[in-house]
Amino acid sequence: MKQDMSKIKLHTFSGWIDPPTDLQPAVSGEVTCDVAVIGGGVGGMATATRLADRGRDVVLLEAEFCGYGSSSRNGGHISGAPGGDLRMLKLFYPKLMKGMVVLADRAAEYLQAQIKDHRIDCDYVPNGLSFGAISPIQMLRVKACAKILRDAGGRGQVGTAEEIGIPRAFVGGMREGVGGMLNPGKLCRGLRGVLLAGSARVYEQSKVTDMRRESGKIVITTPGGAVIANKVVLSTNAYSGEWDITPKGLSIPAWIIEVETEPIDPARIEALGWTSRSGVLSQHQIMEHFRVTERNTMVFGVRRLERGTSYPLPENKAPDPGLVQELADAFHTRFPSLADVRVAQAWGGWIAITSSWVSVAGQTGDDVYYSCCCNGHGLAQAPYIGSLIADYIVDGKRHEDLQTIWKDEPKFPPFMMMGRAGLRTVWVLDRICDAFNGNKRRAQRGAASAERGEFIPITEGQVQLL
Ligand SMILES: Cc1cc2nc3c(=O)[nH]c(=O)nc-3n(C[C@H](O)[C@H](O)[C@H](O)COP(=O)(O)OP(=O)(O)OC[C@H]3O[C@@H](n4cnc5c(N)ncnc54)[C@H](O)[C@@H]3O)c2cc1C
Repeated sequence: MKQDMSKIKLHTFSGWIDPPTDLQPAVSGEVTCDVAVIGGGVGGMATATRLADRGRDVVLLEAEFCGYGSSSRNGGHISGAPGGDLRMLKLFYPKLMKGMVVLADRAAEYLQAQIKDHRIDCDYVPNGLSFGAISPIQMLRVKACAKILRDAGGRGQVGTAEEIGIPRAFVGGMREGVGGMLNPGKLCRGLRGVLLAGSARVYEQSKVTDMRRESGKIVITTPGGAVIANKVVLSTNAYSGEWDITPKGLSIPAWIIEVETEPIDPARIEALGWTSRSGVLSQHQIMEHFRVTERNTMVFGVRRLERGTSYPLPENKAPDPGLVQELADAFHTRFPSLADVRVAQAWGGWIAITSSWVSVAGQTGDDVYYSCCCNGHGLAQAPYIGSLIADYIVDGKRHEDLQTIWKDEPKFPPFMMMGRAGLRTVWVLDRICDAFNGNKRRAQRGAASAERGEFIPITEGQVQLL
């Protein structure tokens, strides 16, 4: 269905929630502290909260407001598996695989515990995230990834769409045994409340423009004044490349978008056969994801990565209506019974991609700590790693999960296929596969069988518990 996408709400922030109305004051004059955390996403908020809980004199500096970055803008999937193509990760980093799987699993558990302990109202449903195959070829990839996860100690269930409770438009998939989905805007609001209730001093509207070492301290410049700290934690995700103090080649920024439909009659969602209601990630090289929300809409996104080429990153960026249309077309292909459902709004955000596609953390000198979490899958990992960095600062010892991704030397391999031409090539490959794998026909057949309430029997061997 063609819609005039320039007429829908194209947000420069997020469609999940409005900005807070109780903005904290900006830095004014000179402020001193032991540790300064820069960036108030889920990562920075968790780091500052943990440092404050453990008695440290901590300041958090945020350019806009806590939760302004990708933390409030994402798809809201809590994954218990590492991001990226697990087959590639296994190929290039076989020794890291077990540690990364354990880390991702514990990160999901950590965030679940935070939500529970602080009673954060964020519509969290612990229904596991699913890898969904739109064709038998993609199912081969799912099975390969499931085996890698199983060998590394991961949790999940492989089966047909009916067996794992995802829409019949998919051939089948793997549903993770931990994690689920939530409203990330509400999560950030809750974590911000926890942070503000603690002893950390929080300065919002305080964009750091410079950082330099001076007489054994770090001097951090903001428009309203300077912060002088003994140690700094960089939790600035995709924005980290803005300063010379950040290790060169840590990450590159990429812009991705989310699209939300108008509310859908719950009976029509029911008719999709989506019994688990778990979020689903397609197995394209650049994935598409789909989920339902508490407001009976559907949110879907990604399919294209747009590389940021220079710092500072553009402010107030809104989604390109052409890409919103492309995602809407993909949604209507995947869910033919919802072909009349209109798009209501869209928004986007910056993710940080490391050249290894693995989360990294490390230190430059003995006073600057950095992390870069999971390449677009960091909603649980960023706060978990942030809390482990806080513990390391306090205890002087690294937890085994932090050790897994720790870089002794801030040196990173070159980026492959991440230029504009490379990303375009990957997108074209995905579209060529789509043209020949029969996914459209399958989606139509699956939708029809789900509407008739038919159960497609599962044959021996199609279902295995991980
Ligand atoms: C559209 C989209 C969909 C996604 N979907 C998922 C998903 O479903 N599941 C998942 O696990 N992950 C997902 N992610 C990734 C996930 O959101 C991130 O990995 C995670 O939120 C990173 O948290 P963070 O705290 O490191 O960074 P951010 O939330 O980006 O926080 C960085 C903060 O630093 C601040 N900042 C930047 N520069 C400065 C400065 N100079 N001075 C002061 N402050 C500064 C920014 O304002 C921002 O608030 C998605 C991301 C996007 C954009």
